[in-house]
Amino acid sequence: MTGLKDHFLKRIEATGPMTLAAYMAECLMHPAHGYYQQQAVFGTEGDFTTAPEVSQMFGEMIGLWLADRWIKMDRPNPVNLIELGPGRGTLMADILRAVEPVEDFSAAVQVHFVEASQQLRAAQAERVPNAQWHDTLAQVPEAPDVPSLIIANEFFDALPIHQYEKTGGKWVERMVGVVAKDEDSALALVGGPCGPQFSLVDEAIKAGPEGSIAEVCPAALSIIGDISERLNTHGGAALAVDYGYRKTAAGDTFQALRKHEFTDPLAAPGEADLTAHVNFELLKAAATEKGLKAYGPAMQGMFLMAIGLGARAQVLASQGDEAFQAAILSDLKRLTATDQMGTLFKVLALQPHELPPPPGF
Ligand code: SAH
Repeated sequence: MTGLKDHFLKRIEATGPMTLAAYMAECLMHPAHGYYQQQAVFGTEGDFTTAPEVSQMFGEMIGLWLADRWIKMDRPNPVNLIELGPGRGTLMADILRAVEPVEDFSAAVQVHFVEASQQLRAAQAERVPNAQWHDTLAQVPEAPDVPSLIIANEFFDALPIHQYEKTGGKWVERMVGVVAKDEDSALALVGGPCGPQFSLVDEAIKAGPEGSIAEVCPAALSIIGDISERLNTHGGAALAVDYGYRKTAAGDTFQALRKHEFTDPLAAPGEADLTAHVNFELLKAAATEKGLKAYGPAMQGMFLMAIGLGARAQVLASQGDEAFQAAILSDLKRLTATDQMGTLFKVLALQPHELPPPPGF
């Protein structure tokens, strides 16, 4: 039994079932046993591979996108470069290398990481030693005339969600409870009264058929609120890349990934990555409501090709032998093909209305 499972069983037996959001947050970030407190989660050895871990080209293209925004903002110095959930720091290292030739940009940039995991902070420090670390976006210092460029790749999908189910004509919140199984105790989904976050569920979904599942992610909306406030006050631009859907829809997207395989999210808490698909329509609406202009979500494949990934791949491939060229082509496909990361992953840009439209949309 994992340390976390024991902890949950005791807690639920003492105080009753917990919301899926509370379960997800603790599974990922519990100080001793949380999933992200361990380092070996990324890459072929770990549980999942993200775009920056697939290829340096991903970070390079994002870097050039950011440099374009900086130039369109009239080259502010200093400028905050903020990454939410930087993982191993690979994306930021690739961004910083790619923007070196952009005159004065590297010198103007102050790198801030928003990272909850102490283990991952250590990994990030190896790749980007000059960064500053914060627990939340709100804690990144603000100063007049210092705009922020904000990037988040596979960050929003890790934020805790609430789930509801329509059963017997009524909505219940899906909670994690304890059931007896093979003379032992196991974690299982049980129904409970809907908490206040149920008000975030779309009215059309509430009116849906028996058995419908609804999901909401209040933490994501709150971070969009913080991004909006920062960009409205000091200027800048934000880019969020994640897997998710364009239009609000009913359905269960809560999933667990372990060693590149889907597994039961309740089976081994703390040992699998837990995520939910991102509702881009809601994120976009939240930012628009706060006065920002939103672009996208564009399909990742289309976005990357539109900002020059094809040309970059060609240049890179020409520097190596045949095997290297084949590897670059395979990475390019992985990032852009519709049956790989090209369409499931989407890109949303947010910025104040005054800034000229960003490339790639
Ligand atoms: N962006 C990286 C890592 C994605 S995994 C990449 O693309 O490879 C999610 C990252 O978000 C991890 O670094 C994780 O520790 C961090 N994270 C998850 N929830 C967080 C939260 N609530 N606050 C801060 N960081 C969080």
